[in-house]
Amino acid sequence: MNLNSNPMTDGLLLIKCQEYLKTLCTDITERCVGSNGNRQATYFLGKELSLCCWETEMIEFDAIDWEENGAQLISEEETFEVLVSPYSLGFRGEGELISASTIEELSEINAKNKIIFLFGEIAREQLMPKNFVFYNPVEHQKIISILESSGAKAIISATGRNAALAGGVYPFPLIEDGDFDIPSVYMTDEEGLKLIPKTGKIVFLESLSKRIPGKGFNVIGKKGNKNSPRIVVTAHIDAKKGTPGAIDNATGVIVLLLLSDLLKDYNGNKLIEIVALNGEDYYAVPGQMNYISANKNNFNSILLNINIDGAGYKEGQSAFSFFNLPDEILQPALKVINHYGGIAEGVQWPQGDHSIFLQYGVPAIAVSSKWFIDNIADQDITHTPKDNIEIVDCNKIVEISHALNDLIRSI
Ligand SMILES: [Zn+2]
Repeated sequence: MNLNSNPMTDGLLLIKCQEYLKTLCTDITERCVGSNGNRQATYFLGKELSLCCWETEMIEFDAIDWEENGAQLISEEETFEVLVSPYSLGFRGEGELISASTIEELSEINAKNKIIFLFGEIAREQLMPKNFVFYNPVEHQKIISILESSGAKAIISATGRNAALAGGVYPFPLIEDGDFDIPSVYMTDEEGLKLIPKTGKIVFLESLSKRIPGKGFNVIGKKGNKNSPRIVVTAHIDAKKGTPGAIDNATGVIVLLLLSDLLKDYNGNKLIEIVALNGEDYYAVPGQMNYISANKNNFNSILLNINIDGAGYKEGQSAFSFFNLPDEILQPALKVINHYGGIAEGVQWPQGDHSIFLQYGVPAIAVSSKWFIDNIADQDITHTPKDNIEIVDCNKIVEISHALNDLIRSI
């Protein structure tokens, strides 16, 4: 194996990393799917890949962006603090408040023309979007279907913290789904305690929210012989609304960019695909769905997926987590992490695009920051404004890029 990092290239790569970080997180102010910033980020990546002589495709799909201007909830002259659920339709009107804290209660109430208030057990975890195919518990689907047939005018939910499923946000939106058409807002569980006594009373709700149609793209760069076994390196390029998405996942895109440079002269016997999947943090995961349908009869030609998500956090080591690696990939992978002092083997975690490849039987390596994997259940950074360029260590991004370059060349 040729382990080739040297101080000269490291200096250049470090500067590139800092520039890319500025482009993706500062010059472009948001990267949520369907937004202008998201399209700019994909055009930028496409252009850079072409410059490094990768055969580059931009795969277009439909999406929606979303804009909100606050919400208010009033009952008997008392006002309550509420937030607009992402991608919700807007609402203005009043109705009787009807409450439910369990699925049983929800299925028993008559909510026709009323405003439903969900709190407690039923609002414990974010409901998966109705058309989300990967992980969608039966209880979630049941709640969604009861709500959709309830005839309710609007939904208010009170939620706590749930970092594992909703990132570091508090309160988290119970519903985040552009395919679900009952307008909804959400509030903290504490504020919710004050609303419970208003059950049976008339409440007034105004939520200024609108959906805006917009296109999105996956970006795919290829190098090598078309008929060779493939190594697919992925990172999601979108970010949650309201966050610069530095660690989640500008750094992943930057690894793709640095790697595309390091692999510029690659002429091995594999087809290397560099793929920016667009939608990991978006309710409809449109880029992922698009990639799956384009590859559904072709996953067996993929030897390995390397997915970068959450890499480059300033605290702790980088983590390479291995999933079902055959010995001929595991051995070089172990050798690479032994060589680079800042990288260690990480525990397995499922919340990323590598899970798609695993579902199709493709071995995978997930690249992240050890601190984030170890604190996945209680950190308060992901999906918040705290995920900004201040918490990124570019040296780690450069180190990961070298390690992946070495690994890909040795497979
Ligand atoms: Zn992510």
